[in-house]
Amino acid sequence: LISRKRKVEDTVIDLGTVQIGDGIPKIVAGPCSVESEEQVFQVAEVMARQGVKMIRGGAFKPRTSPYDFQGLGLEGLQILRRVADHFGLKVISEIMNPADVEMATRYVDVIQVGARNMQNFDLLRAVGSVSTPVLLKRGLAATMEEFLFAAEYIVASGNDQVVLCERGIRTYEKWTRNTLDISAVPLIKQESHLPVMVDVTHSAGRKDLLLPLAKAAFAAGADAVMVETHPNPIVALSDSRQQIDLPTFEQFMTQLRESRFLPELL
Ligand code: PEP
Ligand code: MN
Repeated sequence: LISRKRKVEDTVIDLGTVQIGDGIPKIVAGPCSVESEEQVFQVAEVMARQGVKMIRGGAFKPRTSPYDFQGLGLEGLQILRRVADHFGLKVISEIMNPADVEMATRYVDVIQVGARNMQNFDLLRAVGSVSTPVLLKRGLAATMEEFLFAAEYIVASGNDQVVLCERGIRTYEKWTRNTLDISAVPLIKQESHLPVMVDVTHSAGRKDLLLPLAKAAFAAGADAVMVETHPNPIVALSDSRQQIDLPTFEQFMTQLRESRFLPELL
């Protein structure tokens, strides 16, 4: 169902005030985790000024250690919704439990399925049974075929509003947290009609590569780039080393506009 052979035209995800896959490159930004209303507000204020229309933030966090911050859960989704509505933004947030999918549709505009859950088939079927668009992240060690079949599960369950997100894969290279598989972008575009996003933050795991990786993503044909930003990354409750502060985020946006990878601010 997701194959180009079945449908030649690109799928466009229409969120009302913003589209993914309409040929205009988009940025998704926001903190790794939702920590407080004030934190999300600070981020959203800068995003709105920069013309970014989609905010991300984790409320249910898939943490490696059970002793790390696990997210605010429902309260986090409520914070995101309130702040996003205040600034006219759309909300993208991860859901891990199939039982939470129905509830999440009341708060988010796009449900994220995280890398660690790419082959959680019950979750794929659950997000496939609602009409809310889904952002499916590539598994840490998933082949292209596994990635595309995971998307197929969602569409086969009834939801054809799926965005595929390359977020780096595990390799022997240690200088980055993951290795951004840039080939995934043109490969997905050839194989499928679904839109493609590149998460440069989790790919790199370091701040100094975000701009070149974002340029590479757009040059390769990505419809959107995701980047994590936090008002005060040093004290962030997750991914503190890889989130950029708000002035750096504004520079990132300016540089993408100046190099014509993003349209001018209207
Ligand atoms: C995230 O985007 O918040 C996240 C946890 O990313 P990933 O699932 O790609 O590791
Ligand atoms: Mn993160």
